[in-house]
Amino acid sequence: KLTVKGIKKSFDGREVLHGITFDVHGGEFLSILGPSGCGKSTLLRILIGLEHPDAGSVLLDGENITDAAPSKRHMGIVFQDYALFENMTALGNVEYALRFDPTRRVRRSQIALDALASLGMADFANKPVAGLSGGQMQRVSIARTLALSPEVILLDEPTSGLDADARLALRSQLKNIQRDHGTTMIFITHDQEEAFALADRVMVMGEGSIHQLDEPLHIVENPADSYVRDFVVANL
Ligand code: ATP
Ligand code: MG
Repeated sequence: KLTVKGIKKSFDGREVLHGITFDVHGGEFLSILGPSGCGKSTLLRILIGLEHPDAGSVLLDGENITDAAPSKRHMGIVFQDYALFENMTALGNVEYALRFDPTRRVRRSQIALDALASLGMADFANKPVAGLSGGQMQRVSIARTLALSPEVILLDEPTSGLDADARLALRSQLKNIQRDHGTTMIFITHDQEEAFALADRVMVMGEGSIHQLDEPLHIVENPADSYVRDFVVANL
């Protein structure tokens, strides 16, 4: 279980997160929706430790990880722009992520291949990344995160650069990862329908705060305020 308490963050004297508090259960799929600039990516970067909060704490299974290095948090993050080595193969990219894990060194190739297979990319393992489509690159990037067996995977708009078919394929692969590995998924998207279709619970953010965090059906039936009703539920 991930526990987030009272997270505040300012940039240049302007507070962009005003005290964010929520829990995510182990194995849960949480979608985060909210307007551009409301602080979604900043929140994710704080969860993984790429950014330090001015106040508040992050706990994973009761352990305070607020000050832990990103690599010590049992979390993985997937960025919109893939961040792959394009001159390396798909397999090479995933293996590279495993390079510091001594317990896994012997089985590194097999773990990397299994992760690629989970994303439907086994046939592309030995292809250079530079020759892959955007959707395929995104799947390699998710496989790279999955190979490290994180408890939590954070995804910052992973579907935004994809066409409709690739988007649907990725959606079902993300649900499969949740089901097969029990991984907690925290997923930012601008697509309301996608957020509601995938999630066990949806978090609707406004500028630096949470409007509502609940199961999709509860939000639809009981929007917390006019913002949620007029801009989220009305657009489903
Ligand atoms: P989008 O949907 O466009 O990705 P977002 O909800 O992810 O938006 P953030 O990227 O978290 O928004 O940014 C929240 C606010 O914090 C914005 O006003 C942004 O300009 C500001 N901000 C984020 N990172 C920094 C930084 N490193 N330095 C200064 N300001 C920042
Ligand atoms: Mg963002």
